[in-house]
Amino acid sequence: MTARIDRDTLFIGGQWRAPSTSDTIPVVSPLTEKEIGSFPKSATTDIDSAVAAGRSALRRADWAGLSPTERAQVMRRFADEIEKRSEDRAVTVTRQNGMPIELSRAVEGAATVTLLRYYADLTESTPLEEVRESQPVPGTTIVRREPIGVVGAIAPWNFPAVLSMFKIAPALAAGCAVVLKPSPETTLDSYILAEAAIAAELPEGVLNIVTGGPDVGQYLVAHPGIDKVAFTGSTTAGRHIGRTCGELLKPATLELGGKSAALILDDADVEQTVTGLATASLLNTGQTCYMSTRILVPRKQSQTYIDAITAMAASLPVGDPMDSSTYIGPVVSAQQRDRVLSLIEQGRSEGGKITTGGGRPADLDTGYFVEPTVFASVENTSSIARQEVFGPVLSIIAYDGLDDAVALANDSEYGLGGTVWTTDQDRGVDVARRVETGSFGVNSYNLDWGSPFGGVKASGVGRELGPEGLASYQQLKSIFLQPN
Ligand code: NAD
Repeated sequence: MTARIDRDTLFIGGQWRAPSTSDTIPVVSPLTEKEIGSFPKSATTDIDSAVAAGRSALRRADWAGLSPTERAQVMRRFADEIEKRSEDRAVTVTRQNGMPIELSRAVEGAATVTLLRYYADLTESTPLEEVRESQPVPGTTIVRREPIGVVGAIAPWNFPAVLSMFKIAPALAAGCAVVLKPSPETTLDSYILAEAAIAAELPEGVLNIVTGGPDVGQYLVAHPGIDKVAFTGSTTAGRHIGRTCGELLKPATLELGGKSAALILDDADVEQTVTGLATASLLNTGQTCYMSTRILVPRKQSQTYIDAITAMAASLPVGDPMDSSTYIGPVVSAQQRDRVLSLIEQGRSEGGKITTGGGRPADLDTGYFVEPTVFASVENTSSIARQEVFGPVLSIIAYDGLDDAVALANDSEYGLGGTVWTTDQDRGVDVARRVETGSFGVNSYNLDWGSPFGGVKASGVGRELGPEGLASYQQLKSIFLQPN
């Protein structure tokens, strides 16, 4: 559990390959601040090899020649092998990014497997060809769904395993090949994915993994052998990738940042709402893109909610992420901790009133910890209400009437998630319809593999998950038949 993990190869073309350079990247534990392992940095020639391996898979009968049912069988074998390694993967993720271990087991372990199985089933049940009556000239058209090609998949560190699978599963379902680039903070767990691919006899080149930071990502995005980019990460990097893909006319799915709102209606049950907010606003130490971190409360009830949310945040166990009772672990890195602390400082300097937290926990002098922090009576114009913090920091904002609440929710650069809290589900759905966002939860926020997920405005372009996620890895071809 505490042994170093040092990798010295890359997974390309179904095999472990020696990297072309001796450059290595260290991995630092956010808990101990000590190095826990390392892996090689891919050189451009390694990335070229990975892309070439993907292109070759698209030409070979053992992948391109498979029927959807045969492809689904390969995917299910792969899911079984990933499942056997779930605990190892969950622990490795937690050691790298500080994710509380029970969350890591549920999401990085188990959910990654169910997602792959969902897409195995979907590929079998989604017809590849549809026959339409053509118009205005009467005749027949065959509309075909073909694999889009080789996908460059770039993942962040916050949920490295499942967010990689958001891309790999639909891409494989569509018959594509993938070159995955994990985040440098969380690359070690992707070696376990590669081990599962080898054990499952995934045809060579269908999945390749390249390693490194933004420069490796940029090279991959611009690579002429990459047909589509699937990116999850910050809005800044997303804009950069979007520019490159625009210039190259390359399709891109961009899942970016968020600053979502929780709209608490005047009929909400205070206790249930605040209990639910622990998950909807602070999951994974607040390092989850769709968190409802702007909490909109009816002005008349604002003190009740300030007290209840403050008590909830102050009660969350902070500590070793390997301890099953921990809810708030360290944030991923020293850089991320300093960023979160500086945003808290900025909020304070703009007159924000902190009711709990606001700094590093007094009893934890090692580890990149930040206390769960609540800002009360925040103006929606202040920086703490506008900038994505990506840490355990909440802002409580009072509203006057439902229209004001919806206007405040929509007054954001972002539009990724959001929640409404009410004892009247129909009222909640009415509010959901009015919020400018890609997804929204009524009295909780539970991602659904079968429904599209993504953002509007600065939260991104395109959708992952569901049949729409599969469609984004398919290219449409229309074949017009001359009437007999
Ligand atoms: P990041 O943008 O710094 O990095 C994400 C990945 O992109 C990493 O693998 C990184 O090496 C790579 N990268 C960075 N710049 C690049 C560039 N110019 N070209 C190609 N690749 C590049 O983000 P992060 O700090 O790892 O993750 C946190 C961010 O991700 C937050 O903003 C969060 O909201 C967002 N996120 C969004 C979603 C979503 O589904 N919308 C999900 C999780 C996280």
